[in-house]
Amino acid sequence: MMNKTYEKGIYIHIPFCVHKCIYCDFLSTPADADIKHAYCKALINEIRMTADKFPEQLITSVFLGGGTPSVMPYGCIGDILDTIKQCFRLSDDAQITIECNPGTIDKKKLKEYKAAGVNRISFGLQSADDTELKMLGRIHTFADFVESYGMAREAGFNNINVDVMSAIPGQNMTSLEYTLRKVMEMSPQHISAYSLILEEGTYLADNINDYPEVPDEDMDRQMYHMTRRILAENGYDRYEISNYCRKGYECTHNLLYWNRGEYWGFGCSAAGLIDKKRYCNIRDVGAYIRAHGNPEIVRDNIEVMSDADEMEEFMFLGLRKIEGINIYDFRQRFGKNIDEIYEKEIKNNIEKKLLERNGDFLRLTEKGLDICNTVMSDFILTV
Ligand code: SF4
Repeated sequence: MMNKTYEKGIYIHIPFCVHKCIYCDFLSTPADADIKHAYCKALINEIRMTADKFPEQLITSVFLGGGTPSVMPYGCIGDILDTIKQCFRLSDDAQITIECNPGTIDKKKLKEYKAAGVNRISFGLQSADDTELKMLGRIHTFADFVESYGMAREAGFNNINVDVMSAIPGQNMTSLEYTLRKVMEMSPQHISAYSLILEEGTYLADNINDYPEVPDEDMDRQMYHMTRRILAENGYDRYEISNYCRKGYECTHNLLYWNRGEYWGFGCSAAGLIDKKRYCNIRDVGAYIRAHGNPEIVRDNIEVMSDADEMEEFMFLGLRKIEGINIYDFRQRFGKNIDEIYEKEIKNNIEKKLLERNGDFLRLTEKGLDICNTVMSDFILTV
């Protein structure tokens, strides 16, 4: 195994939202200001205690996700980012993203984020149709989004992502096109376009019969292709199955995941991958606060990755990128040629026109992208 040092990222999980959306299976809950302050303190302690054991690590991306990080009281996000800067080596061009939901930010918070070094904002819009938003349990209207987006632009943020959702119950091609065109009018640098997944245990999944019909698989694919076409016509490159951007505005944090880089995860339910060990923090916010974020207590499910685990992750994460995986990168990481490990799987999928070689890269074809989960499952070694 080669010993190359890969760049590292930091993911911070903020498990609070104003209100729980009906389809949400993320760790998120409403909470009062005292709990949020206590959580912030515990989080800062987890970062400090971790960095004490792993000093001098170079961090190239920070992503504050949730939940809704923008519901944190004034000062918290600044304190968290200051701690990261004190404890780790943050590269000068690190991309620092915060997820914000429309209606939860104001000028003062945006000023704090800017001063703390945040240089990318990700807005969870999902739909420009207020009826769809209301049905999903979102707290905002499209007008709230336009206002929040305008404030972010005025505050000097020039790298903005907008999340758009397809396969919403009752959604049709026309309403999705309406959302996409309204988003185009705002001209964000980046758009993430995911299909709604019915997750077991969510309110929506438990009460699906009370909601309008969910677009079926065929319509979901048509929605995907329409999204791709409209975004391409408007100058957005698809660089990952569900992510599009203007040239040079890729999300470096997500690229780090897809390139199977290493990252720390801090906060409740945050996952990390460091030195061949994958971990996931405990999900109980109260227990996390009581443990003051002590990594020895809050780290859970620590799994040491085998070479086979790493290879299959490299494959199915890397194949999400439209450029595919770099076969030389595979050899450099694992000390073996990709064809030695996956000869049969590669040959079969190329014959079925689901995979193709492109110079140093192996990538999914358009047909392969349509059934990517099936193709990726061929690369699992450890079943
Ligand atoms: S805003 Fe996002 S994280 Fe919060 S409840 Fe809704 S879907 Fe879940």
